[in-house]
Parts: sequence; C-alpha cells; structure tokens
Amino acid sequence: MALSGIQIYKLLPQTNCKECGFPTCLAFAMKLAAKQVELSACPYVSDASKAQLAESAAPPMRLVTLKSNGHEIKVGNEVVLFRHEKTFYNRPGIFIKVRDDEDIQAKVEPAEKFAVSYVGMDLTVDGFAVEATGDPDRFVAAIKTLRQISQRPLVLISSDAKVMAAGLAVLNGETPLICGADANNWEAMADLAKANTPGGPPPHSGGHGQAALVVKADSIEALADLTEKIKGKGVEDLVIDPATKNLSRLLTFSTQVRRLALKKNVRSVGFPIMVFANDSILAAQAVAKYGGFIVLDEFKPETVYPLLVLRQNIYTDPQKPIQVQPGLYEINNPKPESPVLVTTNFSITYFSVANEVESSGLPAWLLVTDAEGMSVLTAWAAGKFDAERIAKAVKTFNVADKVSKKRVVLPGHVAVLSGELEAELTEWEIKVGPREAVDLPAYYKQVLV
Ligand code: SF4
Repeated sequence: MALSGIQIYKLLPQTNCKECGFPTCLAFAMKLAAKQVELSACPYVSDASKAQLAESAAPPMRLVTLKSNGHEIKVGNEVVLFRHEKTFYNRPGIFIKVRDDEDIQAKVEPAEKFAVSYVGMDLTVDGFAVEATGDPDRFVAAIKTLRQISQRPLVLISSDAKVMAAGLAVLNGETPLICGADANNWEAMADLAKANTPGGPPPHSGGHGQAALVVKADSIEALADLTEKIKGKGVEDLVIDPATKNLSRLLTFSTQVRRLALKKNVRSVGFPIMVFANDSILAAQAVAKYGGFIVLDEFKPETVYPLLVLRQNIYTDPQKPIQVQPGLYEINNPKPESPVLVTTNFSITYFSVANEVESSGLPAWLLVTDAEGMSVLTAWAAGKFDAERIAKAVKTFNVADKVSKKRVVLPGHVAVLSGELEAELTEWEIKVGPREAVDLPAYYKQVLV
C-alpha cells in the first residue's frame, strides 16, 4: 500500500536537519508521498525504513519488459484508469500467434514485413507467440525457423515446463514471456522463470537471459493467490491471464483488476493483463481497456492496421499532440514560381494537407509554422497561429530566397488573418485557400495556376 505523508514522516529521522533541501522532515515526507522527490535525498533514513518506503514507492502496476536482438517492449507502469486523467504510458504489445506445427515462414513473414505509415510514424506488430503442440524438438525447430525471419520479442506458450525449457534454451540472452503457470504447474514454471533470471540458480540449458511469466486462472482471487505464491519464489515479472475470450467477462475482469491495482494498491494483481484475441472486436476492446500483451490468433492486415492506429491514438499523451517539425517542406519538386501553402505543425493537419497536394501531383512549398502541435482553428483560437507567427516563419525559414513569386496561401479557416498578414508581409500577395485540405487541388488548379 502507498503510505500517506504522515506515515512516511514516522519512518524518517525527525531531526529537521534540512539536508534534504526541505525545512522539516514533515515537508520532505509530504513531497515523498506526492512522488515529487527521491528518498535518497535524505542521507539519514535507516535500512529498515528504507525497505518499508521502497515497498510503498513501487509502482502499482509492475513494468514488464521483453527484449530480443535489438528490440524491446515495455508494458505496465500505468497510473490512471482513464487516459484523460493524465496519459497512458506503455502501449500494449501486439503479437501474432503461430503453432509449432504450422508453416512458420508463411505465417510470420507477412506480419514481420507489415508496417503502417501513420502521421510520420511506422507502426508494426511487436512480436510473435509460438505455441507448442507437445514435442520439444518441434518447438525448438519452430523457434529457430522464426528467428531466421524475425528478431522481435517472443511469447512462448506451453504448459509443460520441459517443453518450455527447451524453447527457452534457443533464446540465449533474450527476455521472452513464457506462458504459462497455472494451479497445476506453477512451481515448475516459477522455477523455470527464476532459473532464467540473473542471480537465480544456473539455467537448465545454460546462458539464457530473463523470462517474464504469465499466470493463468479464471478468477481474480485465484490469480492473486497464484501470483503471491510465485512472488514468494522470487519471480516478480508477472503477467496475468484471466483465461477468457468472452467480451463481457474480459472487460469486467480487466476493469476490476486495474481498479484494484491503482485505487486499492492490491499488489497481487498489479500486473499487465494477457489477452488471447480470436477476433478484432476483442482485440480492440483489449487495446482500449487495459490489455497488456495482446496475442492475435492470426495476422490479417485489415485487422492489424486499425488496431495499430487505435493503439497509437489511445497511447498518445492528450496534452502533447503529435507534432511535425516546423519548416519549409517541398512537395512534388516545387519551383520558384510554385505557391507557398501555410499550415500548422499538428501532425494530422500536416499530413492531411501534404497528402492531398502530393497525390494531386501539383508542386508546392508547404510552410509549417510552430503552433505548439495544434490544428489550424484550435491554434488560432488559442493565439498560437496568428499573422505574427506566420510572418516569423516566412522569415525564419528564408522562404523569400526560395521563391520568385511571393505568394502565401492561408487556410480558409483563418481567412480573418489575411489583413494582418498583409501588414506583416508587405511585399507578399496573401491568398485565402479552402477550409478543407481535400479541396486544395481544385483550388490550386482554379486560382493558383
Ligand atoms: S534530510 Fe532527512 S532528517 Fe534531515 S530534514 Fe530532511 S528528511 Fe529530515
């Protein structure tokens, strides 16, 4: 449980020596409770108090990190129930499942090569889940084949600890997720996960790195019981699997677990949630409502594309819009006589304008002004996109040196700025373009050619 300021104060030396930078131990305790300072700022805390305070300072949801050759995915460490309260930090991992008796190459290669270009970012799946069908040799062969195609993080699926150990031996130096432990096999699986943790007993097959462990049960109580037992064996990086593909049950479970972890500080369920999704609705629900690792039964571009975009939007900080770099962008090899179109540096606005002009084949200069990542109307209303800023961008990016015809086209939504901009850029012709980006090509052909 997180401790209150008063509870923390009782664990401090209470000498008010001020070495931490605060006038009293109580003031320091209050800051510590608000997580605004580090405990290490006080040099006089006893070891016993340190242990107690460290426990209370641990995040309510465990951060679980998977690593493979050059790839890493972090899941967990969330601090709010709703994105608008602050932000969601670590995107759920999206994995594609393949059974070890399937054609690995045919199933993995298309997903490995798939990338969605979205507002300047390349979105991809995060890794693959290899499911064993019982034979350790076949499992090993499947993982080796997969590793020839993809280096992304892996989830290994088997309830047989011997099969799992064989699979883990292939992933030397990686941190996969092993799935998993249940009421029957948890000790063997916990031993295996621990054996793969630095500082644990020597690994079964020598040399491999850490492994996080999925714990499966069909109720919150049973999961809490299992995670406590497994933590007692020294395995901390856990993921919980409610063992359901029912939309309603999964939503109820995920919401209850997140509330228990964040609001009640119940550490026994403070872990990312595993979701095996056999359809796109379930996967989309898991992206929106607290899925941690989402394993899709198969790779379909038409399913993965919207999932990746949905995830990107939900896991964007609502207070920090996705932005592009302000500057003068060239579209379709503009010439000195080509027009200068003006917009803001909100990514979606930029790409809407750039894509419309680019696909029309018409050459243009696109002047992106710094509007703190806001769209045209929002920025104008907030005073972040005005004549002064546009004129400043024209000068900062030396637009006059690039063009022979001094013509600036304002977005139609801010036609009201044209008079002020004429006053700022006295040698320039100020034109007012359409309100919507989609109408730019027609406007260009009618007015600018
Ligand atoms: S350094 Fe420690 S003992 Fe000194 S005032 Fe700060 S909290 Fe109290």
